[in-house]
Amino acid sequence: MSETRVDERTAVRVDEGDHERFSHYVDKAKLTEAYVVGTPVIALCGKVWVPSRDPTRFPVCPECKRLYDLGPEGRRLEWERRARED
Ligand SMILES: [Zn+2]
Repeated sequence: MSETRVDERTAVRVDEGDHERFSHYVDKAKLTEAYVVGTPVIALCGKVWVPSRDPTRFPVCPECKRLYDLGPEGRRLEWERRARED
């Protein structure tokens, strides 16, 4: 019913910082696709970027970590709240 949301089971840490110099959580399937065809991925925190295969170590993004710890249901509520605010 809903659009694609990051599932806890497939969320992985990506060591790719770009602008923010943080490691973000993204959907594993999306990450694989990104590696293959170069499509951007969306992190839990909303950051969008094209990950590289050769990651550098960064600290975990605090916002991603917080959302990850909320679990699937908590994230859904959080994203719904954001959608209303936007
Ligand atoms: Zn993040």
